[in-house]
Amino acid sequence: MAGKKQTPLPDQQPENSKNKFIYSILVTIMTIIALLSGQYSTQHSQNQENTQNQNLTVSDAEFQVHVIDVGQGDSILIKADGKTLLIDAAESSAAPKIISYLNGQGITELDCAAATHMHADHIGGFPKVFASVRPKAMIEPVFQDSLIPTTKTYEKYLDAIQASGAEYKALKTGDAFSLGSAQITVLGPVSEHASSLNNSSLVLRVQYDDIVCLFTGDMETPEEKTILSTVDNSQLKATFLKAGHHGSDTSSGTAFLEQVQPAYAAISCGVDNKYGHPAESTLEHLKAYTDQIYITAQQGDIVFLYDKDTKACNVLTSGKE
Ligand SMILES: [Zn+2]
Repeated sequence: MAGKKQTPLPDQQPENSKNKFIYSILVTIMTIIALLSGQYSTQHSQNQENTQNQNLTVSDAEFQVHVIDVGQGDSILIKADGKTLLIDAAESSAAPKIISYLNGQGITELDCAAATHMHADHIGGFPKVFASVRPKAMIEPVFQDSLIPTTKTYEKYLDAIQASGAEYKALKTGDAFSLGSAQITVLGPVSEHASSLNNSSLVLRVQYDDIVCLFTGDMETPEEKTILSTVDNSQLKATFLKAGHHGSDTSSGTAFLEQVQPAYAAISCGVDNKYGHPAESTLEHLKAYTDQIYITAQQGDIVFLYDKDTKACNVLTSGKE
């Protein structure tokens, strides 16, 4: 809805019953139009840097981040000038949802896919997704040989990449590539010697025009500290943060958030998940910087939008079914 919706004050209510009838019909029509105006509801409040524009829609925004509601796991679609990057593909059981989401976005081929790390809730869905939506390129983090999983999930993941014919690269801090006019810098893993798969997560800094988005996989505080001591900390300031490790209290430490200062934060986790994600303490840490915290378990698909011309941001959510 482009027009402003105003609720009349009590003394502005129509007086006679005919007007009341017309008034109630108008209110009903406006409500129906508002409900039909998209599958998403708009949420908003103040953003620290960019103008919030509640009318900014998916079709207007050259840059979009879709945190797909995949239950307990991660799958995030980035669109920059029509170019696509899918970060993670959740568990195998979430693949049908991811495929239908991508198809719903008109995507039949991905410019790039990224596996943040080799756990099933991040790579499990790739084989089925790639069978429908082929990636042109595939990236993953470097990690030490002793952490190479022996799981069937990992085997299937490797087979799926090979079958897709995608160009395949392992990246670490300092590597960079572009997606449309977005510049993507790899902040982590800092080295191939991180102590765990979570701490070997691919951490991506995506800069598009005036904004920066950070995607942290399941990075935990040890790797946050390594990045803080390695990377120019001014690189960490971000408009949008995908909070690490499903909002666990093992991630999003105060020292890291102090540099990121997110204006928007998204957490991907399942309803009533057994890990208790997101942690209350993580939410408290994030609240020190923003009241724009979105959680897939509560709000469904989360779509962050940015319009280059107006510098406006917006967040839309699908709601839960
Ligand atoms: Zn995970």
